[in-house]
Amino acid sequence: MAWMLSRVLMLVLGTGVAGGLGYWLGEWMRMPQLAAALAAAAAVILMAVWDAARAHRLVTWLRGDQNDDAPRLGGLWGEMAYRVERGLRDRERRYDRERQQLEQFLLAIEASPNGVILLDGQDHIQWCNVVAGDHFSLDPQRDKLQRITNLVRYPAFVSYLQNGNFQQPLTLTNTRAKSTLQVLVRDYGVGGESRKLVLSLDVTDRERNEAMRRDFVANVSHEIRTPLTVLAGFIETMASLQLTEAERKRVLHLMQQQTTRMQTLVGDLLTLAQLEGSPRPAADHWIALDPVLARVGPDAQALSNGRHELVCERQTGVELAGVETEILSAIANLVSNAVRYTPEGGRIELQWRWTPDHGGETWVIDTGPGIAREHLRRLTERSYRVDGSRSRDTGGTGLGLSIVKHVVQRHGGELRIDSEPGKGSSFRLKFPATRVRLADSPAMGDEAAPAALAGGEGL
Ligand code: ADP
Repeated sequence: MAWMLSRVLMLVLGTGVAGGLGYWLGEWMRMPQLAAALAAAAAVILMAVWDAARAHRLVTWLRGDQNDDAPRLGGLWGEMAYRVERGLRDRERRYDRERQQLEQFLLAIEASPNGVILLDGQDHIQWCNVVAGDHFSLDPQRDKLQRITNLVRYPAFVSYLQNGNFQQPLTLTNTRAKSTLQVLVRDYGVGGESRKLVLSLDVTDRERNEAMRRDFVANVSHEIRTPLTVLAGFIETMASLQLTEAERKRVLHLMQQQTTRMQTLVGDLLTLAQLEGSPRPAADHWIALDPVLARVGPDAQALSNGRHELVCERQTGVELAGVETEILSAIANLVSNAVRYTPEGGRIELQWRWTPDHGGETWVIDTGPGIAREHLRRLTERSYRVDGSRSRDTGGTGLGLSIVKHVVQRHGGELRIDSEPGKGSSFRLKFPATRVRLADSPAMGDEAAPAALAGGEGL
């Protein structure tokens, strides 16, 4: 109501001043009627000019971008300017808040490990995150507003999108990149227009693990079925035929071989299951390495039966934090492999050495056939063999290196394999500084450590 009061006040004042002036002029010219008319006209003109000037200031501000303050006018125009400005500022604040919320929302989606694409009713890309860009080779900025089926040309994807039946996810396999994507589409509507949300997930590792698990089950079943079939055949033979003593002994010997094969396999399977199911070995339970090396030696001798030159480091003075049986089994596996795969006359060494990071590694080197590069990555997969029949003939189960990898990883270390066909192989069990020490010295940063390197000795 203030604007009305001020307007009435201005009106009274304005007409009073203008009327007074007009009246004075009329009186001065001695024409009272003219004086009255001039007074009224002057009052109206003055009011109109004053009003137009104020309206002009407001209209000029409205025509601009309204970034500066509205003109401070007072009265009716002032009230209007104030109301318009307040409405504008409220709307700007609300817009800013919503924009920030949208930005945070998009940042959250951007941080998601899944690919996210928003499509409009005609399958044009409205927005997509970087992960989706990677999955579908899209550029989130450049490809905006492009029709997705012009850019992603997998026939399965195009027909999936066009069919409109999104109940089941689509699995896309890129054989060249050896990757697998799982794609899920959801319909949603905005303002009556149907839109699509496309979610993509890289399931390459999951699929690979699943395939490995399937292969593993198939391989193990096969490994168990073979000796079982042989045993069943022998049992049938013994039950139905009259065998001589010599034949009976031979059959029993073969049956024992098959049983041992199954026992070894089941033993390795149980070891793996146990390794996977038990907690990490304590980091403060120290065991001496030398007795472990001393136990591996005679077994390797027995397995080699004099066919190889075997060299083993015996006095390392090293202690490892971990489980003795596990470390023994890992080293024994590596030495047994070296003996089994190295041809007669070859050399096999078992060594310990400190590494520059104050950790250390046990090292099994052989002059055997070596392993081609393409196999190296897969060697520690369960049941993976470079040469299946050679492995079986020498009593292998295909699980040895898998066990070794598990053991060393549980001890905070890693298995490193270097090999070249024709040049032999080296398998290293690398332990971190926190898990190795010289006997009775603290672990980590042991200055005297290199002095522990002793020369090799025959096994
Ligand atoms: P296996 O019981 O078959 O020996 P492992 O898991 O111990 O199973 O080894 C996997 C494969 O790695 C073996 O089948 C063999 O082909 C290869 N391999 C392991 N150690 C050696 C080695 N010292 N020299 C050559 N090949 C090896």
